[in-house]
Amino acid sequence: MVVFDAVTKRYGDLTVLDRLDLSVAANEKVAIIGPSGSGKTTVLRMLMTLESIDDGVIRVGGEPLTHMQQGDRLVRANAQHLRRMRGHIGMVFQHFNLFPHMTALKNCMEAPVTVLGLSTDEARERAGELLNMVGLGDKLDHYPAQLSGGQQQRVAIARALAVRPKVMLFDEVTSALDPELCGEVLSVIRTLGSEHNLTMLMVTHQMGFAREFADRVCFFDQGRIAEQGPAKSFYENPQEARTQQFLRAVM
Ligand code: ATP
Repeated sequence: MVVFDAVTKRYGDLTVLDRLDLSVAANEKVAIIGPSGSGKTTVLRMLMTLESIDDGVIRVGGEPLTHMQQGDRLVRANAQHLRRMRGHIGMVFQHFNLFPHMTALKNCMEAPVTVLGLSTDEARERAGELLNMVGLGDKLDHYPAQLSGGQQQRVAIARALAVRPKVMLFDEVTSALDPELCGEVLSVIRTLGSEHNLTMLMVTHQMGFAREFADRVCFFDQGRIAEQGPAKSFYENPQEARTQQFLRAVM
C-alpha cells in the first residue's frame, strides 16, 4: 500500500532520510520508533506531502505520490493528482491542529466538502457518524477550547477519517496528553485498527502500545531503519546493539 523507494530528504547539509526503503502492506500496522531527530516525523510528513522529496519515489496504492507516470517517465504531479493522492491519507498530529474557530462537527466537515466535494448535508452526516464513533456524539457543537486534550485528539482522528483514507498516520498523538487522557485516544486507535481496513503508520514513544498494537516495529536511527521486525520479537529479542541501547533507555 505504501512504498518508500530509496527516498532521501535533506535540509541544507543535513541528510534527514538517507535512501530510505520501507514497504507497508495494506492493513498493516507499523510503529515507527527511534531517538529524537532520527527522521520519524519526516517520514509521515512526506507521505502527507507536507515535505518535498529530494530523491527516490514514494508510492501509495501503486501510484507515485508526487509524480505521475507519463509514458515511461515520471513527471511532477499536477494539482488534481496531488489532491486525489492526499485523499488516500489521513494524518493526526501531536498538537491536534484543529481549526479553533470551528465546532467539532465543522472541523470534521471541512475536508469532505473542500477536498471530496461532498454536499454540506452529506458531510454533516458523515462527520456526525465519525464523532459518534470516537465517543463524542454529545460534543458536536463544542469548540476545541471547550474540549479536553483527549477529546480534541479524538476529534482530530474523526476529522482525518472523514475523507475515508486508506492510510492513517499518527504522529506522537498522545505525547501532549496527560497520562489518564492517553488511554481514551489509544482505545479509539485500537478500535480503528481492529474494525476498519486501514493501513496505519504510527510514530510513537509508547512502547507498551506499539508492542501490543503494531504488526511491525521499525527502529529509526540517523535517517535509516536500523532494525525492524514483528513487534513481539523486536521487543523480546532486539538484534542490534543500537536498538538494545535505545530500548534500555526508554523502557
Ligand atoms: P522527534 O522524536 O524529536 O520528534 P524525529 O525522529 O521525528 O524527532 P524529525 O522531526 O523527522 O525527527 O526531524 C529529523 C531531523 O530533521 C532533525 O534533525 C530536525 O531538526 C530536522 N528538521 C526537521 N524539519 C526541519 C525543517 N523544516 N528545517 C530544517 N531541519 C528540519
